Amino acid sequence: MTNVMGKCCAMTASAMNGMKRSASNCRKDGNIADQQKRINDLTMEIGRLTIRKLDEGQTAEEPVLERYRRIIEAREKIAANEQAKDVRKVVCPVCGEKTISGMRYCGRCGAELDRGAIAKNR
Ligand SMILES: [Zn+2]
Repeated sequence: MTNVMGKCCAMTASAMNGMKRSASNCRKDGNIADQQKRINDLTMEIGRLTIRKLDEGQTAEEPVLERYRRIIEAREKIAANEQAKDVRKVVCPVCGEKTISGMRYCGRCGAELDRGAIAKNR
């Protein structure tokens, strides 16, 4: 009986240690993930600052410029798609707010939108 209790307690202690260890590791993993996220955010920030300088006409090393040219291409594609989009807007008869069609009520004043007010906004 005592022996069984002893084994049981030993197992429990071992399990508790395991749990403590895993909780502690979990906190460390959380901290590692926080720091990695921080590094990623700061890396993005460095990228944005670099892009701003390039937009202002500064130059950079070729590997950076090569990526920058791809960003320019992507911007042009976005602009072309934005231009090609069939954006219809509904003009609110009460406040004049332009809302993308499909909305029943004005997002600004809540007035019911008049389908007759739909105008191609281009
Ligand atoms: Zn309105």
